[in-house]
Amino acid sequence: MAASIEVPDSITVGELAEVLQLPATRLIGELFKNGIVATINERLDFDTAQIIVGELGLDVELQRKVVEVEPVKRQKAAQTASATDRPPVVAVMGHVDHGKTSLLDAIRSAQVAKGEAGGITQHISAYQVEHKDRLITFLDTPGHEAFAAIRQHGADLTDIVIIVVAADDGVKPQTIEAIRYAKNAGTKIVVAINKMDKEGANPGLVMGQLAEQGVVADDKAWGGDVPMVEVSAKTGDGLTNLLDTVLLVADIDELKADATIPARGLIIEAHVEHGRGPIAHALIEEGTLKAGDFILAGGTYAKVRNLDATTGKPIKSAGPSTPVIISGFKTLPEFGDQFETVKNERDARERAAVVASERAHGSSRSDMSSSELLRIISRTDKLQELPIIIKADVQGSLTSVADSLKSIETDEVAVRVAGSSVGVINDNDIHLAKSTGSIIYGFNTSVANNIKRLANRDKVSIRLYSVIYQLIDDAKNELSKLLAPEVTEKEVGTLEVKGVFKTTKTEVICGGEVLSGKLTTPAMVRVLRGKEQIGTAKLKGLKRGPNAANDLVEGELGGLELETSARIDLQIGDKLEFYVVETKERTL
Ligand code: GDP
Repeated sequence: MAASIEVPDSITVGELAEVLQLPATRLIGELFKNGIVATINERLDFDTAQIIVGELGLDVELQRKVVEVEPVKRQKAAQTASATDRPPVVAVMGHVDHGKTSLLDAIRSAQVAKGEAGGITQHISAYQVEHKDRLITFLDTPGHEAFAAIRQHGADLTDIVIIVVAADDGVKPQTIEAIRYAKNAGTKIVVAINKMDKEGANPGLVMGQLAEQGVVADDKAWGGDVPMVEVSAKTGDGLTNLLDTVLLVADIDELKADATIPARGLIIEAHVEHGRGPIAHALIEEGTLKAGDFILAGGTYAKVRNLDATTGKPIKSAGPSTPVIISGFKTLPEFGDQFETVKNERDARERAAVVASERAHGSSRSDMSSSELLRIISRTDKLQELPIIIKADVQGSLTSVADSLKSIETDEVAVRVAGSSVGVINDNDIHLAKSTGSIIYGFNTSVANNIKRLANRDKVSIRLYSVIYQLIDDAKNELSKLLAPEVTEKEVGTLEVKGVFKTTKTEVICGGEVLSGKLTTPAMVRVLRGKEQIGTAKLKGLKRGPNAANDLVEGELGGLELETSARIDLQIGDKLEFYVVETKERTL
């Protein structure tokens, strides 16, 4: 019977290799054969892991390990005397193309039409809408990665997840994933059955499919407890009903927070804006944030210089569940960093320095990049090029960035500029980056949220810098990853053949005495007769007496199982040389 191994829903290539007791390179190779260029740190979902195990022909059955993440509950505010009502925080999730972005946009633009001063031209990380004289905070970061990242940081700032399901497409893998996220996080679910304007809309079918996933509609026919609202992001039908429902669901939880204490919350977006320096969008979970406060976020800190609502309007202070834009950070905080108010600048500076150094330390382990892997596998010797797109604020800086990048070329690696222009990063840049596989380097420029979303969806990497040498360092780092690794052979031991028990085209079973070193599996083998090499093989297994052994050392006698690609007629007296191949990263 196949061995059964429990693995979590998401596992890195390295971790999977470890539980399967295989070299990671074998998994990487198998993934590559299946068209997936993965690094050792790449996360595979359960299904991919299962497929790969199947492809490897292992007698192993993967079982899904159900990890119930203990939701990090907000402090139940009723516990503190000064707690007051706060708006619900809502995230929108669902399968790609089911209309998450459209729905978020529709809800927001309805608000703008209601007379929001000046309108909003840019996409933002979160926004608040007023409905029936109450506020609702929407996280404008659809995408499960964003949600997962927030959760990874131990935060649980979402009260309600709206799961969008297209009425003409039904429940799809990411719908199921969204349900799982919401359940794990302990949030309330509201289902928006979208695209009701379309001809093939079939809400009944959607409800049935959701019921199969344990999400049962709360109407009489179904008898469940999850509100489901039919909407059309296109026509706007049903949106009022959706917002009503969100408020109803929020009321059940009696969401409260203490607005009288110093603020604490989460960074939900950060970027550099020309002329303003690092800008962070944050959601306040508790307390009140004011301009002039000192806040610590990850490895950086700020004296809050300007505090703006996400409409761009300056505000003096902001309370719980409010999304704000903060300027005054020393360096960019990271998405998902928690922030807290601290006493004074010294405190902020010292604590930020500790976190920054811990992070620098933690990230120093070597990450194998896709391009590097590609190189290991394909072993090309040509000049490796890093396609990039450069965007900058003015022509002068564009030229100097391009020139500096040229100066870091070597005979082996170079940047190839697929496009460059002045201005903010736009959708054309993303399309070009996608089709050319480019990284986008932005110098003193910025990127709107809708474009960032597009980039996320298309897996385009955008790197924003305002200091040229940091940009160059980043490019250098990327170029280093393209350098072919240094491949060396390390001899681990030798053995003299004392007996040959079985020889086929693909296998030799023999016995011998270890003359030097230590033999372990796996290893590569050179077969020598006298001075001549008569073949090569792979060491698959070792035996000491009748038992399998992990290793054999100098002076020991043992049995060997060798895998060969052509028949080798091994004879007594032949010598076997064992070696392992080591690869080492190089840097520019
Ligand atoms: P996301 O990937 O979930 O963010 O989906 P999008 O919001 O980008 O929508 C995907 C596609 O569906 C776009 O072409 C939208 O115009 C379209 N779409 C979204 N909502 C509706 C709707 O209610 N009705 C119709 N007919 N099309 C919609």
